[in-house]
Amino acid sequence: MYGFLLTTEERALRDEVRRFVREEISSEFLRKMDRDEIMYPRDFVERLAEYNLRGIRFPKKWGGRELSWVAEVAANEEIGCLGMALGCAFVMPSIVGEALNFFGTEEQKEKYLRPYLAGRLVAAEALTEPRGGSDFFGATTKAELVGDHFILNGQKRFVVGAEGSDFFLVYCRTNFDADAPKYGRISLIIVENGPGIETEYHYGLLGCRGGGTGRLVFRNVKVPRENLVGELHGGAWCFNQMMIPERLTSASGCLGVWGALDLAVRYSNKRAAFGKLIRKYQAVSFMVADSIATLDAARGITYMAARAVDENAPNRRRIVSEAKKFATKAAWDVVNNAMQIMGGIGYTDVYPIERALRDVRLSMIWTGTSQIMDLMIQHEYYDEVLNQPYDRRHMEKDAMHPDESERCFTDEDMWEVRSRPVSETDDRQTFE
Ligand SMILES: Cc1cc2nc3c(=O)[nH]c(=O)nc-3n(C[C@H](O)[C@H](O)[C@H](O)COP(=O)(O)OP(=O)(O)OC[C@H]3O[C@@H](n4cnc5c(N)ncnc54)[C@H](O)[C@@H]3O)c2cc1C
Repeated sequence: MYGFLLTTEERALRDEVRRFVREEISSEFLRKMDRDEIMYPRDFVERLAEYNLRGIRFPKKWGGRELSWVAEVAANEEIGCLGMALGCAFVMPSIVGEALNFFGTEEQKEKYLRPYLAGRLVAAEALTEPRGGSDFFGATTKAELVGDHFILNGQKRFVVGAEGSDFFLVYCRTNFDADAPKYGRISLIIVENGPGIETEYHYGLLGCRGGGTGRLVFRNVKVPRENLVGELHGGAWCFNQMMIPERLTSASGCLGVWGALDLAVRYSNKRAAFGKLIRKYQAVSFMVADSIATLDAARGITYMAARAVDENAPNRRRIVSEAKKFATKAAWDVVNNAMQIMGGIGYTDVYPIERALRDVRLSMIWTGTSQIMDLMIQHEYYDEVLNQPYDRRHMEKDAMHPDESERCFTDEDMWEVRSRPVSETDDRQTFE
């Protein structure tokens, strides 16, 4: 339906993933995940690897396909209807792989990235701590460099794949200088699962079940110095880079709510009330109209964000944050409408809309909450408008009465004698 957004190659990948989603994943597998009978979907990961569906964007040299972000978004949109936990298992190579591919040494890529993309290793990323996830730079998990090893102590919370992973990308404090700038405190290290690492417990999660979410506790874990990713104390740069796949995959996975909407549409075409099909009531069919328009708007911004990253556009981070904020809320609204269209039965587990609703709620919280997206978006936009070269028309001159004496911004302005006349000269705007 949206093939026009894609190149021939991207469409081929989308079709491949669509077939995989339709034919390779049984409903019983999804039920087992949601019943928490599966600790971590390793089979799924291995199956993806058989189809070479890990590392879509990464170099062929390391086992990837070297395709675009747009291609990856199209793939995520298909996978998204399988729910959050499988969606997360699908996109984790994009997130963990980003740091390894971008900042990793050749040795790290050989040892971790290659087997990871091949499905022989499973990995997770550990940022959030019990003390908070939004305040990333306040991380207290510490890795002290002693000779050629780090000694890691601390804990991380809500790590998807805490159960089931072979290695973790852990952000930790390495610079203990009290005056160290925010951007110079943290490092990113690869920590192999083993002695000194405990997965404390699983949470009673509302959704996203079966993905191995747990708390990681590190007690004097010895990590070789060569497992440092990027610069010592330079974790902030890795974080900035990893936030692109984190947030863009959250946005694109949410496009997977097409599945819930299609289910509700079919239902409304069969269910009758007061002697006619419920879709014949505008109150119902307009919910469908709202949902599809909302979903298409989310698609629009998410594909735009993907193009922005593919093109390395200077404002790509802002647009990715916008896509994350908008698409996750859109997905919530679409699933909520789907449930409303289906009435009481939508609230039961006779249909999987209730699971979709439980799942999708998470998207507005993880990989940075909607409030943190707002912080990012406004910050970047203020910077673009106020501090960057600006070659667009300034509208403020176009007022009918651009009377400067009335343009008062501060207390001080009020007391200033204002005698500046309104310019009557040619006011066309020219730029250097
Ligand atoms: C199921 C699940 C899976 C997850 N998977 C992972 C994972 O794999 N790896 C990982 O590292 N983390 C993971 N997370 C953690 C997730 O990213 C965090 O929960 C999230 O970033 C929010 O952090 P927090 O829960 O500590 O909330 P807090 O940071 O305590 O925030 C609480 C509230 O305060 C608001 N707030 C905080 N600071 C500000 C501010 N400056 N301005 C405005 N509002 C603010 C927040 O928006 C939120 O509403 C997962 C979480 C869940 C629930």
